[in-house]
Amino acid sequence: MRATLQVLTDELRRLKAAGVKTVSVSDASLEALRRVVRGAAPEPAGRRVEQATGPSARSNESAPRPMPVAPEPLPEKPRPPKPAPTFPAGPVVTLPEGDKATRWAWLRERVLGDEVCRAQVRPGKKVVFGVGSLDAQIMLVGEAPGADEEVQGEPFVGPAGQLLTKMIQAMGVTREQVYIGNIMNWRPQLAVGTDGVQQGNREPTEAEMNYCLPFLRAQIEVVQPAIIVALGSTAAKGLLGFQAFRTVGEARARWHEYLGRPLRVTYHPSYLLRKASESKIAERKAKRAAWEDFLLVMERVGLSISKKQEGYFQ
Ligand code: URA
Repeated sequence: MRATLQVLTDELRRLKAAGVKTVSVSDASLEALRRVVRGAAPEPAGRRVEQATGPSARSNESAPRPMPVAPEPLPEKPRPPKPAPTFPAGPVVTLPEGDKATRWAWLRERVLGDEVCRAQVRPGKKVVFGVGSLDAQIMLVGEAPGADEEVQGEPFVGPAGQLLTKMIQAMGVTREQVYIGNIMNWRPQLAVGTDGVQQGNREPTEAEMNYCLPFLRAQIEVVQPAIIVALGSTAAKGLLGFQAFRTVGEARARWHEYLGRPLRVTYHPSYLLRKASESKIAERKAKRAAWEDFLLVMERVGLSISKKQEGYFQ
């Protein structure tokens, strides 16, 4: 009985993970389910003793029956692994021959027209592709578009994006001279209120990230940046794997490699904004840490660093 209920629970979980919000159940199925549930109730302890001890004990018919006691809780069964979300595997992206501009334009069309990506965005909202210089030395990779990005169809244009733009400028380069992409090409969806507006963001699932990663890898193949900067934990997990580190602090401590290129992990600008809302000291400390990562990136790509730049956020 318990197995039947487990199968049913697993199926409901699977449907929920696949985005199914309601299921209809006929009266007949409901009655059948009730019968299973009734049958699943553990029998009184006395009866179980009888069964467990076999025929010799059963011959003691006249002995007073033990008082039924409250059923013992069933032992915890190890939970089955969470069902894998039913999300298509990432596509195989084969770039066409041609120069960078041709290949990038092809890829952009490919992503913006991708059926799976398009199915994830609400009407009026956009699939988001990377922007910037195709000759960029530095490629910055974020997590996923937010509210502003899915409206404008460009990564990092909201509050976090404005802070990121300032940090790019602090390196002595413009936003147009670097390349900015995201792990995800759509804003991970949450249920909307009655106004039809999504409040807040959620982290993408591993399956969602795996779907979009071939698109990011193809952008790296086109742009061939000298260095990749992963902004925050989700970007770092997407690129380096979920097991590669435990905290961003740990991941920041060294150089990594992605597709044969040096990769540095730093804090996500949203994290820096959250620290700013905590206190001036927390803001300065987090910004200085992120800035030190940027200084290492500058050094690695051979950008000159002035004394003034060295001292930012100290
Ligand atoms: N946060 C991200 O990670 N990416 C964006 O494009 C915007 C906010």
